[in-house]
Amino acid sequence: MSDQQNNNSTNANQQASAVEITENNLQQQTPAASDDQQQDSVVRFLFEQHGVRGEIVHMHQPITTLLANLSTYPQPIKSLMLELASAAVLIAATLKTDGTVTVQIQGGRGPNALNFAFINIDKNLNFYGNASWDQEKAAKFQGKEDEANKLSFADLVGNGGILVISAFPENGVRYQGIVALDQDNLSRCLEEYFKDSEQLPTTLQLYHDIDQAQSGGLMLQIIPNIEHNIESLAHLSTLSATLTAEELFSLSLHESLRRLYWNDQIVVYQPEPVDFKCVCSKERILNAIRGLPLDELEELAQEENGIDMTCHSCGKVYHVDMDEIKIIYAAARDEMEKNGTPDGSATVANATGAYQDK
Ligand SMILES: [Zn+2]
Repeated sequence: MSDQQNNNSTNANQQASAVEITENNLQQQTPAASDDQQQDSVVRFLFEQHGVRGEIVHMHQPITTLLANLSTYPQPIKSLMLELASAAVLIAATLKTDGTVTVQIQGGRGPNALNFAFINIDKNLNFYGNASWDQEKAAKFQGKEDEANKLSFADLVGNGGILVISAFPENGVRYQGIVALDQDNLSRCLEEYFKDSEQLPTTLQLYHDIDQAQSGGLMLQIIPNIEHNIESLAHLSTLSATLTAEELFSLSLHESLRRLYWNDQIVVYQPEPVDFKCVCSKERILNAIRGLPLDELEELAQEENGIDMTCHSCGKVYHVDMDEIKIIYAAARDEMEKNGTPDGSATVANATGAYQDK
């Protein structure tokens, strides 16, 4: 299944002058990376005189991993997650924060709305993410996959659904932006957000192919205070719109840029690798157990073979043996006796303080 926004209106024009393409139009900021280094990466580029900058991303391996953990979901949720992943990479590369960025959909009201879907991405462009959909909603579509596959973007985000973009810099002030999910698709919603909230007119195209585990995107954004930047964005985005999913997924990123903007002076930066990397750990799993109510802990402490806990974002299974649970249970019980908290909330507070999630 392939999703693309294609506009062929400039193709004739492009072909007519194709002979004028020269190597000089594509200035390398640094020596060119070989083409096989360009998959699973994002490339920034700049039209200096036009006052427009951009980013292009193509991912396969990270998407394979992401999809492996979405296997129980219908196609539209997978589609949304693949687009969210590319959007997160483009946003993170734009914000250039030294910390992490989270893009999270909070589903609104609606019979098929998601609870949430998120991608968390760090400064090295390693990301992980997941979606949450009610089991009741999923059960409705049991044996009716065709119906589930017809769910639209609007169905999934529901009425009043929002996208929250949060940046958590290692140094500096936390940033949060809220995007109303009231357009037909994710890219339109983000364009509206950048225009209205950030005063940075932006065009964004997102592409994905579930069967081939491919996702990618192309973003153009004005650089403020440069003459004619809005007109330049309009001109360049017409060219961008001719990019097809097939081209993006088969060509190197530099080659895609060369074909799109052959007639414009462009500075292209070195590809930056993107990867799927979960932040789960045994300690985080133990923390989750520490947060359980005392009666549940007591029950678990009687499991002779211990328990297996699966990370929802990457699917990794962690084994916790009986002795480990017994220690947690004993600590929680002592804490309760000391503080007299009947529901284990003292335990949760304690665990949160001792093992702050980063
Ligand atoms: Zn994980």
